[in-house]
Amino acid sequence: MYTVPKLDDYSPAALDRAVADLFGALDAEIAALHSESDWKEFRDRWMARKNGVLTQVNDTWLKAAPKDAKRDVGQRVNELKARAEAAIDAAHEKIHASSAVTKLASERLDITLPGIRRPIGVKHPVLRVQDEIVAVFKAMGYSVGEGPEVETDYYNFESLNFPPNHPARDTQDTLFIAGQEQKAARDRLLLRTHTSPVQIRSMEKLAPPVRIVIPGKVHRNDPLDATHSPVFHQVEGLAVDTNITFSDLKGTLDHAMKSLFGSSVKTRFYPSFFPFTEPSADMQVSCIFCGGKGCRKCKFSGWIELLGCGMVDPNVFEFVKQNGYDSSKIAGFAFGMGVERIAILKYGVEEIQLFYEGDVRFLEQFA
Ligand SMILES: [Zn+2]
Repeated sequence: MYTVPKLDDYSPAALDRAVADLFGALDAEIAALHSESDWKEFRDRWMARKNGVLTQVNDTWLKAAPKDAKRDVGQRVNELKARAEAAIDAAHEKIHASSAVTKLASERLDITLPGIRRPIGVKHPVLRVQDEIVAVFKAMGYSVGEGPEVETDYYNFESLNFPPNHPARDTQDTLFIAGQEQKAARDRLLLRTHTSPVQIRSMEKLAPPVRIVIPGKVHRNDPLDATHSPVFHQVEGLAVDTNITFSDLKGTLDHAMKSLFGSSVKTRFYPSFFPFTEPSADMQVSCIFCGGKGCRKCKFSGWIELLGCGMVDPNVFEFVKQNGYDSSKIAGFAFGMGVERIAILKYGVEEIQLFYEGDVRFLEQFA
């Protein structure tokens, strides 16, 4: 780093050399500047009023000069100061400009680059079918009800006319929540095996007449195979009013199936058993693959079993009688269908697991 030398020789040639040395040092320092803060430090070192290089030049050269050289040295020092200050200012300009260029370069935006494509998600096929089913019933004036997936034994079984120890409970392999032995049987928690508990919950809240569809997830202790999964979805329906008959049930479901599968689909009803309906029926639709002629999918019968239904058992109304459900005055029907089963039929899917594996190659077909 440059320090101002004392001068012994004040001849013009010696002064020229001293000035040239000073500017050599100044130029070398300017060349080494890289940033605004470098420059500020440099400027202060040279231009500080107290002990800056230029002040030192004044003190060391001019004040110490012999009388006869003072005039010449003074003139030279003034020129030197002006030149040095101009060089320091110019250095600032240069630093400033180059940092702006660096900044611009770093912020450069290549507008010709292709953008980032963010794939937009679509509704899962199971939820899509569930929503389609719900929409069919909404169009007929049904409202939508929901309820908890963790249910009590009372809502899942007892109030639906599955008394304790009734063999009908065996048809629904149930997942119970552990550690509830101290609770009364009807208060014990389980994962609901059907969406039917929401029927009772809805009738507790709403006096008749009621028309409601209940979509939701249900759980059973079933091993996974091509058509069974321990978790699946159901849409349940309930209509209660005066003068409701079995032909209302048939007409409603026939219309719903035509809306879902097309107007050429036929329905038929078979006697069945469910604890909460009497009489109960299984409903079949004419095979949507062969139109009823018989194929591998319908096991050459021309029909596919699709849902369970029936007239609400008066025993069920007993549990909500205090809310206006007097079976001598009102009647109702109920039905329930598996959403995956309908999705499998609608989309020709071979394995139920495909719906849950989250494999984009499968799911993107529904986009
Ligand atoms: Zn068929």
